[in-house]
Amino acid sequence: MADLLLGQVLSYAGDPFADGEAAARHERQGAVLVDGGKIIATGRADALRAAHPQARVTDYGSDLIVAGFIDAHVHYPQTAIIASWGKRLIDWLNSYTFPEEMRFADPAYAAEIADRYLTLATAHGTTTVCTYCTIHPESVDAIMQAAQARGMRVFAGKTCMDRNAPEGLRDTAQSAYDESKRLLERWHRVDRLSYVITPRFSPTSTPEQLAALGALWREYPDCLMQTHLSEQTDEIEWVKGLFPQSRDYLDTYEAQGLLREGAVYGHAIHLTEREKARLAEAGASLVHCPTSNTFIGSGLFDMGLARQLRMGLATDTGGGSSFSMLHTMAAAYEIAQLRGQALHPSQLIWLATVGSARALRAEGRIGNIAPGMEADLTVIDLASTPAIEQATRRAGSVWEALFPTIMMGDDRAIRATWVNGRPLA
Ligand SMILES: [Zn+2]
Repeated sequence: MADLLLGQVLSYAGDPFADGEAAARHERQGAVLVDGGKIIATGRADALRAAHPQARVTDYGSDLIVAGFIDAHVHYPQTAIIASWGKRLIDWLNSYTFPEEMRFADPAYAAEIADRYLTLATAHGTTTVCTYCTIHPESVDAIMQAAQARGMRVFAGKTCMDRNAPEGLRDTAQSAYDESKRLLERWHRVDRLSYVITPRFSPTSTPEQLAALGALWREYPDCLMQTHLSEQTDEIEWVKGLFPQSRDYLDTYEAQGLLREGAVYGHAIHLTEREKARLAEAGASLVHCPTSNTFIGSGLFDMGLARQLRMGLATDTGGGSSFSMLHTMAAAYEIAQLRGQALHPSQLIWLATVGSARALRAEGRIGNIAPGMEADLTVIDLASTPAIEQATRRAGSVWEALFPTIMMGDDRAIRATWVNGRPLA
């Protein structure tokens, strides 16, 4: 049976970084018709009600219906260590991440955290994630099974590391290739799941391992490849020491066949001009992780790159300090302010929906509200707390009504999350 969701509806006909506010479409008395997991139609509520009298109606009043949020870079195994105190990148990995990731050799623990993570993500209005797992194949099976049970579109891959990681968290060039390939063949394109080839980053992979994963990517060119790039300055110095032949950090990937369309680089804060030019030329994607960048003290991302590159937005759970894409939009706004740029609310929502979908090369399926798109929707209460309600009371536009929720909202603002045409949270 078809479902008709009523409320304010926000969608995009263009890119607000190129076209400004006019890129957005807002229907105050709007509706979205959903059937069989797809969006069938969107438009004015009265017209759609008249045209589809049999549809089951869910009236969200003045709540705002947007495409489900897409978190384009997370580490679901770090769910339990989120908001751990006082470390920068390398210490963070050694003190918190690696001991926690060791536990994912146990399939029962992996299943428990995968389930907890997706429950938290959807409660925050997130309908798709692109996640790193651990080196253990069990960690991939766990998140894929949990996503499959919920009908979610999820991207995930086994994190490969063959050096500078403790015993128990290292594979080899050959085993990384073999296990990644086996997992890819088990999960890629099954239901709404996609496998992502995932070297953690150059400091924890030998050139031989990066080359093996580059070879795997050539065999399965429709996969994404995700890794980290230029997050902290001392990390970049470390990479220089480990790869003396490389021109720069990006070159450590490029030299092994890990730079082209479908490459998704997290962070990318401290880029050289050559790196920026090559990323744009290759059609690669960047993912901005603003709460992580301030929490771990990494630096201020250059949002100006949104004009040249596919760019997504992400929490970087658990280096990031929140599961909420609303909170992540607020952090992106603040970082841009520190670089002298005021991001418009239309740009912030776009980054968390269309932008992330483009970064994951899935914009034809998710990230927007239009006929034919998959029915992943987030319904936002624009007056979810007394502080937000009093700030929005005098709003003269949808943007003025939405911005206090972007800056102060959290999971309390998520009225409902629809995944694959069904309400979840
Ligand atoms: Zn990360």
